[in-house]
Amino acid sequence: MAIKLGIIGSAGRMGRRIAALAQQDENFCITCSIERADHPAQGIDLGELLGLGQLDLPISSKWSAKPDVLINFTTPQATIDSLTAARKDALPMVIGTTGLSPEQLATVKDAARDIAVLQAANMSLGVNLLFHLVGEVAAALGDDYDIEITETHHRFKKDAPSGTALELARRICAATKKDLDTCITHGRSGAQAGRQAGKIGMHARRQGDVVGEHTVAFSTLGETLELSHKAHSRDIFARGALKAAAWLVGKEPGLYSMANVLDLRK
Ligand code: NAD
Repeated sequence: MAIKLGIIGSAGRMGRRIAALAQQDENFCITCSIERADHPAQGIDLGELLGLGQLDLPISSKWSAKPDVLINFTTPQATIDSLTAARKDALPMVIGTTGLSPEQLATVKDAARDIAVLQAANMSLGVNLLFHLVGEVAAALGDDYDIEITETHHRFKKDAPSGTALELARRICAATKKDLDTCITHGRSGAQAGRQAGKIGMHARRQGDVVGEHTVAFSTLGETLELSHKAHSRDIFARGALKAAAWLVGKEPGLYSMANVLDLRK
């Protein structure tokens, strides 16, 4: 039987692609399409919004019938608000929203004591493999290699650095026993901005309609090794979110990641 899917943020860039792809997939049946209460698309049929014709699925501000699973690509506060409601209704949730504060991340962790939550800063297979590779490379190359992370996204992205870039830094720190809170240098400017040994440089570029690019460069005197990922379209994240949602249905309460879905070792 098709998985009953609720999409939160369904009129957003990601929400629309998730809805369009789910609509083409017989494994899913969208049963609710959620947007913020003051969104101009309130009350409009999701199918009309997507240019797919009537689906009898008006966009609303909360779910009425309970779906099997929710997918949430919104804002940090909207994510926490809907997670609180999902916890009350015992509904599993896939969270793709980035930019959550440490307090909000703690709330997500707490909710996962009662419901199954899958959170991923980046839902693409390639990026999740990159998460593994950067840790291995950083540990193998050692302290004499300077690490610089550069990420590029479209001009509309609000948070910086990207959740993916931060996760790359976290993986490097975990593999090299560095303290994430103190080892990142965000950009450089001024007269005393020389490179400090052991720091991870972090650079955010915002331009045009770039979907998402991440490069981790490991440099020493004489060579640079770069690991790069480029997302060509948002569909890579939308497909990952749908894969994650299908995987999450029926799972025990807990906080899961794409590594669980893809069966990658932690
Ligand atoms: P967007 O601004 O196009 O869409 C967000 C949508 O959420 C908007 O339509 C907005 O109206 C809606 N929203 C806001 N408050 C709401 C509420 N209270 N209830 C319901 N809906 C609400 O943004 P986007 O490009 O779709 O990105 C959304 C988030 O997903 C961002 O945090 C982005 O960084 C993240 N993202 C994650 C991945 C990933 O793979 N994890 C990939 C792309 C984007």
